[in-house]
Amino acid sequence: MAKAKLTGGKGADGSDSRCACDSGGSFLACCGPFLAGEAIAPTAVALMRSRYTAFTRNNQVYLQASWHPRTRPAAGSDEASQAPCQWLGLQVLSYQQDGDQGTVEFIARYKTGGRAGRLHEVSRFVCEAGQWLYLDGTFLE
Ligand SMILES: [Zn+2]
Repeated sequence: MAKAKLTGGKGADGSDSRCACDSGGSFLACCGPFLAGEAIAPTAVALMRSRYTAFTRNNQVYLQASWHPRTRPAAGSDEASQAPCQWLGLQVLSYQQDGDQGTVEFIARYKTGGRAGRLHEVSRFVCEAGQWLYLDGTFLE
């Protein structure tokens, strides 16, 4: 994996904080290189985590780029931009990877309009030309 050379070891916000995806690692050692386009997520679950981190940073470019062209909403659409909310945490419950297909079940906690919520989803991913892409997801509960 490419070693990140992100502006002297600092993130865009000037700090190398704990990664939002709850891996326990720092942003620069975890999802940072993926979001910066300096490395490619090696597994479906790594891509899923990096997409969550992109949500917390409102990185629309990365969210679009990691979404399969067949199911990707148009840039700027409601679905693409999502409602503004604060993401509070990610919990990966399980994941499977079989060849070029993977699924990840997770719970993401968020707060919007002063209300806390939980998103429980099983996401599907495909690997095309060595790059994992988000295909679609099914909400649970
Ligand atoms: Zn991460």
